[in-house]
Amino acid sequence: MSRSIDLAVIPGDGIGKEVVAQGLKVLEAVLPQDVKLETKHYDLGAGRWHRTGETLPDEELEALKAHDAILLGAIGDPSVPSGVLERGLLLKLRFAFDHYVNLRPSRLFPNTSSPLAGDPSIDFVVVREGTEGPYTGNGGSLRTGTPAEVATEVSLNTAYGVERVVRDAYERADARPRKKLTLVHKNNVLVYAGHMWKNIFDRVGREYPEVTTDYLHVDAATIFLVTQPERFDVIVTDNLFGDILTDLAAAVSGGIGIAASANINPDGTFPSMFEPVHGSAPDIAGQGKADPTATVLSVVLLLRHLGFDAEATAVEEAVAADLTERDGTPRTTDEIGDALAVRVAG
Ligand code: ATP
Ligand code: MG
Repeated sequence: MSRSIDLAVIPGDGIGKEVVAQGLKVLEAVLPQDVKLETKHYDLGAGRWHRTGETLPDEELEALKAHDAILLGAIGDPSVPSGVLERGLLLKLRFAFDHYVNLRPSRLFPNTSSPLAGDPSIDFVVVREGTEGPYTGNGGSLRTGTPAEVATEVSLNTAYGVERVVRDAYERADARPRKKLTLVHKNNVLVYAGHMWKNIFDRVGREYPEVTTDYLHVDAATIFLVTQPERFDVIVTDNLFGDILTDLAAAVSGGIGIAASANINPDGTFPSMFEPVHGSAPDIAGQGKADPTATVLSVVLLLRHLGFDAEATAVEEAVAADLTERDGTPRTTDEIGDALAVRVAG
């Protein structure tokens, strides 16, 4: 079987360029000879916006559609007004390509620092809904800027949108050894959306008898993520709760330097996008200080999504070994990328 990967690369801003170069280096090193890797770079982000005023022109959105997947570094710079790139580029991509599953694994590798006491075992994945909730831009403000201002931000939840993400989460839980799925919401207060989520969760669950289920209010979930992270295997939750929980999850499992994420269109109608959780980190950009591990672990998610399971596991094992053997000597972005590339090739 001849296999190939046609990859769109959006290095973006700041350390995005530096870490993406390492992700590609490791990807090239791990792919067997017979797999053809084609990459096309897209110049999008703060630099492009400053030069041309464009965020994501429709022609480029169309061109991106043709690729198997997208690897993104980081988008953003303090010189761009807040919201311009988030809405004009990142959210535009997420909605246009129907990335309704936002996947963020949290795994505490040996030798990585966790602020948690003891030596907790952390290995869970958050499936965050990506296209609904309060992120759809439904709302408005009256008497803006006056003492009488009123603002609304409507959370949109459809049975269609909830069922498809819940089903995806059950599939992922069913494929993991522990087969446990936790729904996180706040249905004691957000009763309309909360009950719909819970009813759909229970109904779809009848099709997955092997999967153990659990429900937690989001406030309780934040406590357990810190005090008993081992109780989690797969978590499914809405867009806003997922946004917050996944940052907390990153913080307790090795930090921002290793947190990976994927924006997935499970149907495969559109390309999925893989990116580190961290931003463009202008404070350290250009200094070779950025840890590329989060991007390399995003490449693991990319490989797995495209069906390159053996290669995904090889990269993940290389990262685990690299983190275990880190002896505290600071290494540059390039040195970490090189070390990982050598490990997966060898
Ligand atoms: P955004 O708004 O784009 O999410 P942010 O303001 O939340 O950005 P980041 O760019 O993620 O922030 O950076 C937060 C902090 O973490 C910064 O101090 C940055 O230097 C550090 N940081 C982020 N990514 C890395 C990395 N890969 N390696 C080392 N440090 C990092
Ligand atoms: Mg941030």
